[in-house]
Amino acid sequence: MYKARKKRRYRENDFRMFLFAAFMIMCIGIVSALIAIKAFAVQDTDVSKQKMISDADFFAAKKANMAACHIETGVLSNDKTMYLTFDDGPSRENTDAVLDILKEKNIKATFFVIGEYVEKYPETARRIVSEGHTVGIHCYVHDYNTLYASKESYIADFEKAYETVKNIMGVEPKLFRFPGGSINAYNKDVCRDIIEEMEKRGFIYYDWNAGVEDATGKDSSPSQLIKNARESTLGRKKIVLLAHDRVKNTVLCLDGLIDEFSDYVMKPLTEDITPVQFVRFWEEN
Ligand SMILES: [Zn+2]
Repeated sequence: MYKARKKRRYRENDFRMFLFAAFMIMCIGIVSALIAIKAFAVQDTDVSKQKMISDADFFAAKKANMAACHIETGVLSNDKTMYLTFDDGPSRENTDAVLDILKEKNIKATFFVIGEYVEKYPETARRIVSEGHTVGIHCYVHDYNTLYASKESYIADFEKAYETVKNIMGVEPKLFRFPGGSINAYNKDVCRDIIEEMEKRGFIYYDWNAGVEDATGKDSSPSQLIKNARESTLGRKKIVLLAHDRVKNTVLCLDGLIDEFSDYVMKPLTEDITPVQFVRFWEEN
């Protein structure tokens, strides 16, 4: 009798323990889900509140890889070269100001443009070409989910962007840059297929190995952006610097940024420059 009661009490205790464990597992699950959602939440930094997603979420993840990303050319010489690259334009508010500063400083840069904005701001888009900067394709619409839904989806967007740039800007770029970089949380299942297809078509993609970190959603001050650039270059002799010409503080820091790197020769990217490529780096190491 006593033993039976004791046994029942054990069973009740076991059941309570089971309930407690189940509750704890559920709590951990909810907390993990919330963290995951926050980590992958896309931040909209587009000033015009259009369908734009920043590259912010990928920047932190890539920082470690960027730190190890080298470009061999120039390492043995004393030449320091920086390729200023601007993504996500043209922007009505800021791109002309960026072009003004580059003109004043007599510096050529590279603009990876978005097709729908080229259509919206054709005069600014043409100014990029007429002032001697390199044009690369970024995308037609900056929407990761659509772009990276499949290889076909990416190619369809790219072709539309390419035709837009060709018709409005009068150039046929071989250079392009993947929104979010060549490997990111949205394209890891399809990026190699896309790269293979794009290279078969003769296009070259350019990632980056330093950045001003102006798309992190933090609204960093101009001086902080310059600091970010300096810290991320890690003293390398060949830098492909990522910036966004639609960000106001990037315009405000540009003059100071160029002065900060006066020990570097600023050049536009061209097809014969060995690109920084995240995927390549990962495969080879
Ligand atoms: Zn972008």
